[in-house]
Amino acid sequence: MAKTLQPLLGEITALLSSSLAGEARAAARALACDHFRVSFTGLVLRSSEPVSPADEAALIGMARRMAAGEPLQYVTGRSQFFGLDLQVGPGVLIPRPETEELVSLVINWAGGRQGLRVLDIGTGSGCIALSLGRGLSHPIVHAVDASDEALAIASQNANSLGIDVDFRKLDILSPQADVWASSAQYDAVVSNPPYVMLSERESMSVNVLCHEPDMALFVPDDDPLLFYRRIATLCVSGLLAASGCLFFEINEALGNETSEELRRVGFANVSVIKDFTGRDRFVTATLP
Ligand code: GLN
Repeated sequence: MAKTLQPLLGEITALLSSSLAGEARAAARALACDHFRVSFTGLVLRSSEPVSPADEAALIGMARRMAAGEPLQYVTGRSQFFGLDLQVGPGVLIPRPETEELVSLVINWAGGRQGLRVLDIGTGSGCIALSLGRGLSHPIVHAVDASDEALAIASQNANSLGIDVDFRKLDILSPQADVWASSAQYDAVVSNPPYVMLSERESMSVNVLCHEPDMALFVPDDDPLLFYRRIATLCVSGLLAASGCLFFEINEALGNETSEELRRVGFANVSVIKDFTGRDRFVTATLP
């Protein structure tokens, strides 16, 4: 007789307990919820139903990958962000909950205004751009990334969600970005660029380090504000409309330094905003 879900969840929890310790049970449930596309209540309701051998093999296979350190979202290929079901893979950063707060900052600033022109720089999975495409009123959303792999994932997300975002390949550090910036004029420029200093690697979890893309995470210790300075400079030279607003996610240790850099480049009204954990996590700024 086929196994029921309850003992299978126990087996998966046991598989995950060496790598995830106290979180193993929750991770086993999350895996099963995702696989069967049900809520936790839905999972409980089917806990005494038999599981097909194919589902059992699939779940055990996914649990083994997680036990070896792969993040849940890469194993399932999906991540929830701002109410959107996004496809993710090792070519993009797994969207973080604090980044949802960055999206909320933009939506609150927009205050229901229609037709705003918005740009997301370093879009990755497209999580910010797509959330703004869904959350703002008739916006024009553009998003850029230097990675082909990220753009492929972001475009697939846009297609499957039916959200209109214009994704383009652009390395923001390249001279090509200067040409493009001078003729752009966005109402809002948003970015969660790489901001983790290489010296911070030691304090990061192994499943982030071994699986998430370095190019989305790390900056050199001797120039951690590299992307902030570049984006702010492009904004001042035409990328941002005179009445527009710049929104950054930042390294929690660099709130003051990031604000100073933005003032130096020519921004005014620079504010540092904390995330839900109380850490300095966002900077907003407008042109004088
Ligand atoms: N918040 C991410 C992390 O801690 C980093 C995101 C980024 O570098 N933009 O892993």
